[in-house]
Amino acid sequence: MVKSSSEEAAIAPEVLAKYETVIGLEVHVQLLTNTKIFCACANRFGDAPNTNVCPVCLGLPGTLPVLNKRAVELAMRASLALNCTVHEHSRFARKNYFYPDLPKGYQISQYELPLATNGRIEIDHDGAKKRIGITRLHLEEDAAKNLHEGFSESATKAYIDYNRCGTPLSEIVSEPDMRAPEEAYAYLTTLRQIMLYTGVSDCNMEEGSLRCDANVSVRLHGAKEFGTKVEVKNLNSFRYLQKALEYEVERHIGVLESGGRIAQETRLWNQNESCTVSMRSKEKAHDYRYFPEPDLLPVHVSSAWRDEVKAALPKLPHEVRAHFTTDYGLSEYDAQVLSETKELANYFEQVLQNSLSPHVSPKLAANWIQNEFLRLAKEFGKELPYGWPVYGDAARLLERVQEKIITTASAKKVLARMFEKGLGVDEAVRAEGGTTPLFDLDALEQAAREVIEKNPDNVAQFKSGKEGVFKFFVGQVMRATRGQANPQAVNDILRKLLS
Ligand code: ADP
Ligand code: ZN
Ligand code: MG
Repeated sequence: MVKSSSEEAAIAPEVLAKYETVIGLEVHVQLLTNTKIFCACANRFGDAPNTNVCPVCLGLPGTLPVLNKRAVELAMRASLALNCTVHEHSRFARKNYFYPDLPKGYQISQYELPLATNGRIEIDHDGAKKRIGITRLHLEEDAAKNLHEGFSESATKAYIDYNRCGTPLSEIVSEPDMRAPEEAYAYLTTLRQIMLYTGVSDCNMEEGSLRCDANVSVRLHGAKEFGTKVEVKNLNSFRYLQKALEYEVERHIGVLESGGRIAQETRLWNQNESCTVSMRSKEKAHDYRYFPEPDLLPVHVSSAWRDEVKAALPKLPHEVRAHFTTDYGLSEYDAQVLSETKELANYFEQVLQNSLSPHVSPKLAANWIQNEFLRLAKEFGKELPYGWPVYGDAARLLERVQEKIITTASAKKVLARMFEKGLGVDEAVRAEGGTTPLFDLDALEQAAREVIEKNPDNVAQFKSGKEGVFKFFVGQVMRATRGQANPQAVNDILRKLLS
């Protein structure tokens, strides 16, 4: 492709600053159902090509689609999490076009009456919060996948894998509310996080379960009308989304500054050349000849069903963050890091809940989990939830750090053993050469039992109501552990044994 001079020359910052960028995203997420949207074939990535197919998803004549209720439910969950209005009645429509990945010659989608409209989410960009409107969320089926590589005759033939055909999708269309490529990045990140939290999709960009097309235009600051938009496709990573948008913004400004006009078109991101190239102009755009799908009833969502789905929504990322800052006194930043995934947020919460008196302070747990835990998880390739130390063991370790029973340096070594070998906290302490019973709650309990057994008279006194005798037991256990045990732990254990 020959680049015009306006595209080559770097544009001066003061020229760039005259323009405002406008971006709207169209995002497709594959829904995490067991089966496809209109047939009983497995909805699973990575199987041998053309093994999850049947007459329905192959579009053979005489077959009829049957709507998968679970797909509707997941799309409702997504809609509600995005603050959309879920409509009582929506309808499927046929989107007609001819392409080998579409065996029926049309895609079953929704057009005039989508499942949900008029939502919004809040994004956080450079510490500033901003609302981005969601125009609509609709249900549709995915197309098959063309395979251009990996076969002996790939040079001359294209292959088609119909496993993906009929996978349930939600298309989520945003309002043109974003004003910079970074905002588009933040929007997609936030959207993905919400989809993951709600279990709607696994949002794996490499596997194509999250796909994004970006619409972008520029206009002079203060202009009333939007500029002509270009749609960019083939954005298969967050980084490419941002880079492609940055490229397009400069290209648009370059064209306008040199007196040209932006052609409304669809462009493809070329990751090797780090540029976009024209794919088709809007003039030649498809007329999809949409019409209502005659083989499916309209979708009916009763208010009871909608309320049920809404009630079952988990805490959303922003709610978790608010909980962490308000109830645990964490900073915005800490809350942000710890709510990155639902699994991490849950781990933090569970460690606190499994902590015995004196409770581990949220701040201490937050610091350790953000730093040491995440680092070791990466180092040893351990994933949440099962690869990490069990909650109680993590709590035991952090309690000892807090009470200064163990030094930070030793605790780090102990934690590394816990991650590396899957050891419990006491085993890990021993593996690190720690033999003193003060590390070991079992050993401490054993010491306390011995003191109790040796002093039946004092036990009788205590049980008859002489609370003062309790101090005697504490003193004895402290002596037995050469004064090194955590007094609070000794208290807890004695209370338990004597009650
Ligand atoms: P089309 O008719 O081409 O499908 P839509 O109006 O349906 O266009 O919008 C598709 C997407 O493009 C939406 O995400 C919307 O926010 C975005 N969009 C619309 N107009 C503009 C514009 N001028 N600049 C950037 N994005 C836009
Ligand atoms: Zn099928
Ligand atoms: Mg449109």
